[in-house]
Amino acid sequence: MSKLKMQIISNPIFMSLSIFNMNAIKWLAFSMFISLLVLQKETCYAQDYSNKIKVVLDAGHGGKDPGTIGNRLQEKDVALSTTLKIGALLAKRDDVEVLYTRTTDEFIGLKRRADIANKSKADLFVSIHCNGVSSVNPRGFETFVFGIARTKDNLNTAMRENSAIYLEEDYEVTYSNYNSNSPESILTYMLMQEEYLDQSILLASYVQNNVIQKLKQKDRGVRQDNFLVLRETYMPSILVELGFITNKVDADYLKSESGKYQLAKQIVDAVIQYKENINIIDITEEVSKIKQEQKENVEDVQVEDGIVFKVQVAAGSSKLDPTPQNFKGLENLTREYDGRFYRYYYKSTLDYIEAEDNLEHVKKKGFTSAFIVAYDNALGEKISLSKALKSKMN
Ligand SMILES: [Zn+2]
Repeated sequence: MSKLKMQIISNPIFMSLSIFNMNAIKWLAFSMFISLLVLQKETCYAQDYSNKIKVVLDAGHGGKDPGTIGNRLQEKDVALSTTLKIGALLAKRDDVEVLYTRTTDEFIGLKRRADIANKSKADLFVSIHCNGVSSVNPRGFETFVFGIARTKDNLNTAMRENSAIYLEEDYEVTYSNYNSNSPESILTYMLMQEEYLDQSILLASYVQNNVIQKLKQKDRGVRQDNFLVLRETYMPSILVELGFITNKVDADYLKSESGKYQLAKQIVDAVIQYKENINIIDITEEVSKIKQEQKENVEDVQVEDGIVFKVQVAAGSSKLDPTPQNFKGLENLTREYDGRFYRYYYKSTLDYIEAEDNLEHVKKKGFTSAFIVAYDNALGEKISLSKALKSKMN
C-alpha cells in the first residue's frame, strides 16, 4: 500500500493535474485503474493457498485445567499428545508452517490462544479437545465451527469448553462480553466471521469425513456452536472433539498411541485436502451440499440422546392411519397408543422454537386445539413441557 501511494504522488502527470486537461484526467483514471489492479493482486496473494500455509494447532486445556476426566485419562494430555502428532506430520511438509498455542503442560487462557493465532496471521486454526459427560453412553467424533447451535442437545459441549475461562485471573475483565450468550450477540460475531464460515465448514467436513470413513468412529457430525476460542479467531477455524473420555470404547482408543496417531493422520490429510481444494472448487456450492448432508446426519445423531418436542395433533379411541389424507394434508405424522387412546403427533425436533413453528403450521391446517408435548428419548417416556424446557436450559 505505502509503495503504491508513493508511486501515485511521484507520478509527474498526477502533479501536473493543476492544468486540468483531459489527458491528465485520463492518466489519473489509468493510474487508478492500475492501482486497483495492483491492490487486487495483493489481496489475491493474501488468500492464495497454493504457496505455504500457516496452521495454528491448539491443544485444549493444560496445566491447572485438566479438561474433562474419565477412565484414567485427562483431556489435556490426550489433546496435547494428538496435537503434537498432527504438528509433527504437518511439519514434514514444506508447504505448511506449524505453530502451537502450547507444546507443554501449561495453562493458557482461551483469549490468548485466539490472540496467538490472530497475531501470527495464520491461515487455519485447529483446536483439539475431547468430550466428556456424566453419562457413560455417549461416544463418537465431532467437529465444530463457530455459530449458533442449530439444535440444543443435552451435552452442552460448548459451555463445558468455554468454562475454562473461570480458571483465568481477571476473567471478568477479559471476557466482559462473554456472558452475552444472546442470539443477537452471537449473530454479531457471526457477521464478523462470515467470510471464514464456509471455509471453516469445508475444513470441518474434510476432517469429519476422513475420520468417519477411514477409522469407522461413531459419527456425531459437523456442528456449529458458540465456542469462545473459535469466535475470537479471525481465520477459518475448527474445534475437534476426538471422542468421549467418559465412554470406555472411546477412552481405550484415545489411550492408545495408535488411536491418537490414526486420528492425527486423518486431521493432517484433511488440512492438505483443504489446502489443495480451496482454490479450485466452488466453495459455496460445496458447502451447501455439506450443510444438506449434515442436516440429515445431525438429526439422526441427536435424537438418540435428547429431549424432543412433538406437536400433538389429535387423540381419540379410533385407530387411523397417520396419512395426509386422514389429517387435512398433514405429512410427517406418527401414531402412538397409550393403552387407552391413539395419539397423533406431527414432527419431532430437539429445538423448542422449531416445535413452535410446527405448532403454528398444524393450527393453520385447522387443528386449532393442537399443542406441544415433550419426550425424553433416554427414558423413553413423555415428560412435562416445563421439565423438558428446564433441562434444555441447564
Ligand atoms: Zn476441551
